[in-house]
Amino acid sequence: MGLFSRDRCEGKTPEQLAMMRTAGLLVARTLELVARQVRPGMTTLDLDTLAETHIRDHGGIPNFQLVPGYRHTLCTSVNDEIVHGIPGSRVLEAGDLLSVDCGAEVAGWNGDAALPLVVGGPEAARPEDLELSEDTETSLWAGIAALRVDRPLYDVGAAVEDSLTDSSTRRGREYGIVEDYVGHGIGTSMHMDPQVPNYRVDGRSPKVCDGLTIAIEPMVTLGDQDNTILEDEWTVVTRDGSRAAHWEHSVAVTEAGTCVLTALDGGRERLATLGVPFADITPA
Ligand code: MG
Ligand code: MG
Repeated sequence: MGLFSRDRCEGKTPEQLAMMRTAGLLVARTLELVARQVRPGMTTLDLDTLAETHIRDHGGIPNFQLVPGYRHTLCTSVNDEIVHGIPGSRVLEAGDLLSVDCGAEVAGWNGDAALPLVVGGPEAARPEDLELSEDTETSLWAGIAALRVDRPLYDVGAAVEDSLTDSSTRRGREYGIVEDYVGHGIGTSMHMDPQVPNYRVDGRSPKVCDGLTIAIEPMVTLGDQDNTILEDEWTVVTRDGSRAAHWEHSVAVTEAGTCVLTALDGGRERLATLGVPFADITPA
């Protein structure tokens, strides 16, 4: 984890939040499209093309292409790949655990989200992969629920970790929580301050301000969190070959409540089950 400014928190105005909801919804709909279309026999590049076309057709720019050295719209991380898998000629097989990460910029504002899919659907899945995905998603929502104005930002990572510890105990298995990659502020760029650890960290935390927008993105493995980067200089894989899942949402928090910018319903349904006030943000 690098250094970052601890005390400055830039909240967005309602107009800016509306722009971010527009970008977030485009990401949500693109991921929904990918989830609907993915089939055994497709390549990861097929999915990338589908996503790029969808984003551009709806007035967006694939913002991953704005990251120096990256030319694709998605990251497609298969099985033991944790994050930053590059779309290419790899043919997807039934039962593959595919984490799809997608981002879009619309009118200068950014969205970023990721979810794991099982190629061929749940019936093709290994049960432990479905549990891993479910538990990782649960931990993401625990982190979202812990994001409150005037609270320490690091409460988010602590809630993610506590949720995964609970799930580990319940399943009778040990999860690896990847600590080498973190969530981030998001706004006029995809990656901004502050860094958002997806695990518990000691030390003084920045305080959450009204209108803060961040991406929370737990990466969890069925084995150890130890990882390495492949020769392509992007793809992060587990060293022990265990499978990984990556869930991510871009989230806005205001005095009025929380809006999950990259959820189709803004998080309304799930936040209600968590007792978190929902702030509806109408897209611009
Ligand atoms: Mg992402
Ligand atoms: Mg991100």
